[in-house]
Amino acid sequence: MFGNLVNKNARSAFKEYGEHCGALANIEVATSSTENPHNPKFVAVAKLGDRAFLPATASTKKDAKEYAADLALQELAREPYGRFQENINGGELPEISHGFVGRRRNVYTRRQHAKMKSTELSAPPDKDPVMLLNEFGQKRGQLVKFEDVQCMYPGLYKAQVTVGEATFGPKSSSTKRMARKLAAIVALKTLMNWEPAEGLYDTPEESPHWSVSPGGPAQMAQGDPAQRKAVLYKDPIMLLNEHCQRNQLKISYEDLPHLGPDHKKTFSCQVIVGERSFKEGSGPTKIVAKKNAAIHALESLFDMPVELASKPGQANQMKVDRHPVSILNEYGQKKGVKVEFEDMGHSGPDHLRTFNFRAVVGEVTYDPGNGRNKKEAKREAAALALQSLGFEVNVDLSKKTPTTAEETSIPPEEHKLPLTDGNSAVSALYELCQAHHLPHPEAQEVRPDEKRDPALHYCAYKVGEELYNVGAGLTKKAAKEAAAQHAVASLLKLKGVHHIYNPGTTSEGDEIAALCWNHLSILSRDAPEGWRFAGYKVVAAFVMQDGDDAPGVVVSLGTGNKCISGDQLRMDGTTVNDSHAEVIARRSLLRFFHFHLRVFFSGQTDVKSIFVQKERQGKIQLRDGIKFLLYVSTAPCGDAAIFVNETCCSSEDATETKALFGSRQQGLLRTKVEKGEGTIPLDPQDGIQTIDGIHSGQRLRTASCSDKIAKWNVLGVQGALLSVLIEPVYVTSIILGKLFHQGHLSRAVSMRVERDNDNRFSNKLPGSYHVNHPKLEQGHLVMQDRSREIETKCKTKVLSLNWSAGQDTSVEVFDGCQGIAPSKMGKPSRLSRQALYASVKEVIKHSQDLGHRQILDAPSYRGAKELASDYRKTKAMLYNRLKETGYGSWDLMKKPPELSHFN
Ligand SMILES: [Zn+2]
Repeated sequence: MFGNLVNKNARSAFKEYGEHCGALANIEVATSSTENPHNPKFVAVAKLGDRAFLPATASTKKDAKEYAADLALQELAREPYGRFQENINGGELPEISHGFVGRRRNVYTRRQHAKMKSTELSAPPDKDPVMLLNEFGQKRGQLVKFEDVQCMYPGLYKAQVTVGEATFGPKSSSTKRMARKLAAIVALKTLMNWEPAEGLYDTPEESPHWSVSPGGPAQMAQGDPAQRKAVLYKDPIMLLNEHCQRNQLKISYEDLPHLGPDHKKTFSCQVIVGERSFKEGSGPTKIVAKKNAAIHALESLFDMPVELASKPGQANQMKVDRHPVSILNEYGQKKGVKVEFEDMGHSGPDHLRTFNFRAVVGEVTYDPGNGRNKKEAKREAAALALQSLGFEVNVDLSKKTPTTAEETSIPPEEHKLPLTDGNSAVSALYELCQAHHLPHPEAQEVRPDEKRDPALHYCAYKVGEELYNVGAGLTKKAAKEAAAQHAVASLLKLKGVHHIYNPGTTSEGDEIAALCWNHLSILSRDAPEGWRFAGYKVVAAFVMQDGDDAPGVVVSLGTGNKCISGDQLRMDGTTVNDSHAEVIARRSLLRFFHFHLRVFFSGQTDVKSIFVQKERQGKIQLRDGIKFLLYVSTAPCGDAAIFVNETCCSSEDATETKALFGSRQQGLLRTKVEKGEGTIPLDPQDGIQTIDGIHSGQRLRTASCSDKIAKWNVLGVQGALLSVLIEPVYVTSIILGKLFHQGHLSRAVSMRVERDNDNRFSNKLPGSYHVNHPKLEQGHLVMQDRSREIETKCKTKVLSLNWSAGQDTSVEVFDGCQGIAPSKMGKPSRLSRQALYASVKEVIKHSQDLGHRQILDAPSYRGAKELASDYRKTKAMLYNRLKETGYGSWDLMKKPPELSHFN
C-alpha cells in the first residue's frame, strides 16, 4: 500500500479534471445505511456535469467518495479524450457518445488544434509535463523516476526520466527543473503523443551564466562559422566553483612563484579540478591570476574559447543606470517572460535583520540579494539578475548593503546561542569549523584591484588550504563578516545535508536521509508557493520498516523551527504550541497510528494494519518486524546541539562513541526561545507556568527537542492517549543530517536518563516502559541543490509543513509562531491537540473494548489523559529522575493545566 501514498488522491484529480473541462465535478453520497452503527455503509456517486458514473460503496463517507472518484477516472481514462489516454492502440478509438465529451472536444479543438500533430488528443498542451508524466505513471502503475545526469558544461543541468523500463532524455537546461520538464516532454511525445503548447518550452539549451556566440570577426572573415566561443556572464571563479560542487569534484588553486621586480610583479595561479590540472593563469594581482586560471579551466571544460561578457565593447552589453527592478521588469516585458521576486525570508536577530529576495525571470532563478529592508533586497536581487543577463550594472546599484554588524555591536549573549541562531557569520564560521574539526579559519585582507571599488574593504577567509570568496564592506569588520558569509555558505554546502538521493551512498543513515529529502521534494510540489522557501530550515521524518531488510518508507514528515508565544496561547487546544520539525513529525506519526488503529478495529482487509493484538486482555502492539526510525536534518535543539558553541572541542571527540558527560552545562533540560531559535537552560528561580503569568507577559517555556526526544525514549512516541490502547512505541534509530556528534547526541537522547549498565531505573518502570537507547547514525547526502543554500539563509521563516501516510495524504502548512494556519482564519491545524483528540475519539468509536471506550466518556482532554495510568506513573518517575540527577525540573516547562480542560 505504501507505494502510492504520495499520489494525489482520486477526488482531487477528479475535481481537477472537472475544472479543466469546465464541468462541475461533484461526488454525492447517495445513500447511507446505519443499521449497524459499528459497520456503516456509504454509497457515493461521482458526477461530472449531468453525467453520473458507477456508484461505490465503503464504510466511511470519505472512502466511498474516493472510490467513486477513482471509478469515474477509470472510466474517463478509457475514453479517447481522457487525460490519461495513450494513443498506442492502433488508433482504434471508441465512438464518442457523451454530450460532455463532445462539448469538451469543441473547446479543445478551437484552442489547441493547430498544435496537435494528429486529431487524437491526449492531454491539455499547457499542462506541466512533469506533473502530466507522473499522472501517466500513476494511472498505469509504472514507476516514473527523474534522474539528474552529470553534465560537463558548467552552469548547465541535465536530467533524464525513466518510465517503467524505458528511459527518455537526457535533456539539458540552465535549471534542474527545466531539464526535467524537457526530459518529460520527450517521454510524453513518445508515450502519449503529447506536445506542449507552442512556445511554452522553447528555451535554448544554454545557461544564463554563459552563452555560445560565433567566433570574432577574424574567424568569420576566414569563413569558419563553426568556430564558436563561450561568453561568460558570471564570474569565472564562481562558475567553476559551482561546477565542482555540483559534480563533487575537489577544486584547489595553487599560487605559483611570482615573477618580476617588486613594483611590477606578475602573479600566476593554477587550478586543479579533481585529478586534472589546467593551464596556468597570470596577471598583475593574485585575483586576476586566479580568474584567468579559472577561465583556462572553463575553456577546457567547454572545449571552446571563453570570453567575459563584461569586457568593454561587448555587443550585448546594456548599461544599468536606473532602478534595477524597473529595468528587469522592462526586460521581462520585452522578452515576454514573467519577472518575479521570491521572498526568501529574513535572517539575523530582530535588531540586525537582513531580508533576502531573489529574482526569477521566466524559468531561470538568479542569485539572491539581500538588504536591510525588502526594497533594498529586491533591488540587489534585480541587479544580480541583470548582471547575469549580461547587463553592465553600476557598482552603486549592485553593491551590497554594508553589513549591519559594524553599526550595532552584537550583544554578547547572542554568541552563546547555538549555530542556528542569528549570530554573526564570523562566529558561525568558527563554530562550524569546530563542529567539523576543521582548522581555525584565517581572515586575509584582499587589496582592491581594477575591478573593485577602492572605497571598500575586501577580505577572504581561508580554512586549511581552502580560500573562499571575497567579501566587501565599508569597514574591515563588515568585509570580514561578508567574507565569513561566503565561507559559511560554501562549508555548509560541503558538509551539510543535500537534496537528491545519490545511489552511490552506502550507509543506512545516508539512505534514510536521501529517502526523507526525496520525499520532501515530492511533497513540495503540492505545497503552497510561499512555503517552499520557508519553514524549511529543519526537516524531521519518521521512517517505517516492515521487516529487517525491508526498505524504509516515510510515514510522517514535519518541517519548522518555531514555537508559539504566550499571547497566542488558546485554552481550547486549537493551537499547535510547538512547531519544531521533530515535534510536528511525531504528531503526524500519531495521525498515521490513528489510521492503522482504525484499520485494525474495522477488520479492513485491503490494508494490512501495523497493529496486532496478541493476547485477548493485553494491549494492542506493533506487528513483529515493524520498526520506526527518526530522521532529523540537524542536531535537535537543546542538549544535543549545545556542543557547537563550546570554546574548545578536542579532536578525540570525533571518534568518541560513548556518551559525553563533561561540563556542568551538558545534560541540562532546556527551553525553546519564544518566537526565536535556540534554547536556554531552565532557571530554578522561575516558578511553575501559570495562565496569569503568561498573560502578564512572562516568557512561555516549551521543552527543547532534545528533551522531548529523551522523553519519547522513556514514554514512547505514541503519547498519553494512545498508551491507553497500545504498548509504548520506541524508535530504533535516530539519524541526523548535520551537526552529528555521537557522544553529545547519545547523552541528550537517552544516556542522561540512565547511564548505568545495571538498568536499575529502567527496570523499575511499570509495564513495558523502559529506557530506550536507539542506534545513532549520521545521514549524509551528497548532491547539492540550490534550495539548501536558501535553507541556510532563511533563518526566521515561520511556516511549518506536515504530512503523514494513511488516509488523508495532503500537505498542511501553518504558521509556527501562531500555531494556526495563516490563511484559513481560525481553522485549527489537524495536529492541534483538539483535532488529534477528536481523531482518537473517532478511532475508538470502532473499538468494542470497554477500556478504550472510557476515553469517549472522559469529561475533557485532561480527563482522558488521566486514564493512562502507567504512562503518567512513568512520566512522574522520569521527571523525578532528571531532577535528582541535577538536570533540572521538567515541571517548570509544563503548560498550565487550564490548557487541557477543553473537550
Ligand atoms: Zn527543536
